[in-house]
Amino acid sequence: MNADVLVEAHNLVKHFGGERRLPFGRTPTIHAVDGVSLSIRRGETFAIVGESGCGKSTLARLLLCLIAPTSGSVMFDGREVTAESPQALRGLRRDMQIIFQDPYSSLNPRMTVGELVAEPLKVHGIASGRDLDDRVAAVLRRVGLRPEYAARYPHEFSGGQRQRIGIARALACGPRFVVGDEPVSALDVSIRAQIINLLEDLKAELGLTLALVAHDLALIRHTSDRVAVMYLGEIVELASRDALFEMPRHPYTRTLLAAIPVPVPGRHHHRAVLEGDPPSPAAPPPGCRFHTRCPFVEDICVSERPVLRDAGAGHSVACHLADRLPPPEREAAGFVAAPARRERLALFTAAQEAASRNGH
Ligand code: SF4
Repeated sequence: MNADVLVEAHNLVKHFGGERRLPFGRTPTIHAVDGVSLSIRRGETFAIVGESGCGKSTLARLLLCLIAPTSGSVMFDGREVTAESPQALRGLRRDMQIIFQDPYSSLNPRMTVGELVAEPLKVHGIASGRDLDDRVAAVLRRVGLRPEYAARYPHEFSGGQRQRIGIARALACGPRFVVGDEPVSALDVSIRAQIINLLEDLKAELGLTLALVAHDLALIRHTSDRVAVMYLGEIVELASRDALFEMPRHPYTRTLLAAIPVPVPGRHHHRAVLEGDPPSPAAPPPGCRFHTRCPFVEDICVSERPVLRDAGAGHSVACHLADRLPPPEREAAGFVAAPARRERLALFTAAQEAASRNGH
């Protein structure tokens, strides 16, 4: 394992279901994560993005060993954590923490803020008595909360403050690796930037390694160093943030990026729309899993599964045609011109014209 790498996954697979249920046969097998390999370097912010249901949160939980893989392994700082005993894993939890999406449901409403933040310190035997109180006060200060808030309950705080409490709880034991599972998506837009800035400051101050799970590409563009794009349980593209946003190679990534709104007043942006719903993870399509929605599909895409391969400069892509696709700009126009999309645009334009004729 490379010394720069803190977390490494090898061919991780996680399937749910598939149990025998008499007299109805077996429950469907959900292919949540299928053959994912990646490495996260020390001190970087590694983003995992994709549509809802693509398996990104399951992958995050596998990396933290919160759930056991069906097959494959996870290494943390050179140790294979998937082979560790439950006792050894409990010790490792100090180093690996998670910030949950929903600050409302992730905090026990019957515990005070002080008890919530102190709990992991007690469980790991890190502090007690006066030292425990001092540590709780210090970590509350560090996340921008007043130490006297320790006596209050979570319901007395706003959404942003509750997420700060969640962050304080995650950081209490001094972890080295923190996963943020959609850490701001449940918050008001006005306070998202504050929480993201806080995470960035804490990362720099404490030397953390961050994995951010998100569907919001604008957020990823602002915060990450490298990005893995997931589709139906697989990584389809992995690259540095700049390479991914400037020259996306996979058709799925291109569509995701083309759908980001352009915040320029007065400029109309035709947002590219991904046609159709993602297939069910209980019955992923053969070959390339994106072939049912890809505008470039060819015969090979239906029969052969593309592997994630190095496209140079640390950019990896899983697409049979990655070297032959037109540059993103020309191809984005192709998405807008898709028949169903063209039809919707025509209807929309007709409705707009009718409204303006009627003086609305
Ligand atoms: Fe599209 Fe084929 Fe590439 Fe899959 S392998 S993304 S179907 S072009």
